[in-house]
Amino acid sequence: QDPDRVFNFAAGPATLPANVLKKAQAELYDWRGSGMSVMEMSHRGKEFLSIIQKAEADLRTLLNISDDYSVLFLQGGATTQFAAIPLNLCRPDDPVDFVVTGSWGDKAFKEAQKFCKPKAIWSGKSEKYTKIPSFDDLEQNPDTKYLHICANETIHGVEFKDYPIPKSGLLVADMSSNFCSKPVDVSKFAVIYAGAQKNVGPSGVTIVIIRKDLLGNAQEITPVMLDYKTQADNDSLYNTPPCYGIYMCGLVFEDLLAQGGLHEVEKKNKKKAELLYNAIDESNGFYRCPVEKSVRSLMNVPFTLEKSELEAEFIKEAAKEKMVQLKGHRSVGGMRASIYNAMPLAGVEKLVAFMKDFQARHA
Ligand code: PLP
Repeated sequence: QDPDRVFNFAAGPATLPANVLKKAQAELYDWRGSGMSVMEMSHRGKEFLSIIQKAEADLRTLLNISDDYSVLFLQGGATTQFAAIPLNLCRPDDPVDFVVTGSWGDKAFKEAQKFCKPKAIWSGKSEKYTKIPSFDDLEQNPDTKYLHICANETIHGVEFKDYPIPKSGLLVADMSSNFCSKPVDVSKFAVIYAGAQKNVGPSGVTIVIIRKDLLGNAQEITPVMLDYKTQADNDSLYNTPPCYGIYMCGLVFEDLLAQGGLHEVEKKNKKKAELLYNAIDESNGFYRCPVEKSVRSLMNVPFTLEKSELEAEFIKEAAKEKMVQLKGHRSVGGMRASIYNAMPLAGVEKLVAFMKDFQARHA
């Protein structure tokens, strides 16, 4: 471990790859001989255009995104997309189906109520969001415009392992917290959206991947910034985009490609998650993860201590050992280790060793 750095288990903004940060540091003052920082460039100048075009091209390679889709680099976080999606895909009276597997899906559902007629056709709330439904059991409205899912619920640690094929309507997914953590068949989706600040960059960038034939149908009240057609027609440069954040995402995409692409990244993520879940499951109940095994997230691992009075001590001692941000979300308590792409295996190994030691001292 670099003595200057902690292992940061935050759910987001999250840790970034060390080599990416160092590259950005080296280029901060003078980007590649331009005599400027990326923060100082015109977003319409040739230097920044080369940055955003390369970022898009690399993301297309990573996720194998076809020309049938637009890739947009937007602002406002995934939360803004909770409104933009219904505004772009339906009329105020259109029915829309939501599968609510956690707090983020619920937030998206509630926001959509302002712009269309969403229905939660399944909710895991009564089981504290620890499950994903069987797709065969989903009863969709035959007139639904789209089915919305949250691919990975960051707070509850529940992740879709495969995706439903909607019986009616389009498939829309919030992939904020597992974006670029594994390969995805983009062609199954009408829209994929993600805030960047977990796996691919700093907060301030929101990525939307949308099928081109869906552009141009926004409701009349749609603010111009939320109209995907405006953004697509202007290559995400309708107004000043989050230039530095897009540059950072571009560096991360380059790094993911250099690692061998998302199949390789997924292998590493599986290895880290397996190590941590095994440590929890083999602790004889000292640690517990409430999520059903088959849908446990590779990214966010929530766990509790049997002796809940020790949780504050666990978090404090871990922080002393330079493992930070392990407190669970305020709505669920306990602990949560977020182990996104940029968390090295060594970070998870250190956490697991600490957990075993803590258990030996407190069991
Ligand atoms: N969706 C998911 C799955 C998230 O984890 C988050 C934030 O943590 C959001 C949406 C909201 O993202 P933002 O803060 O970018 O609006």
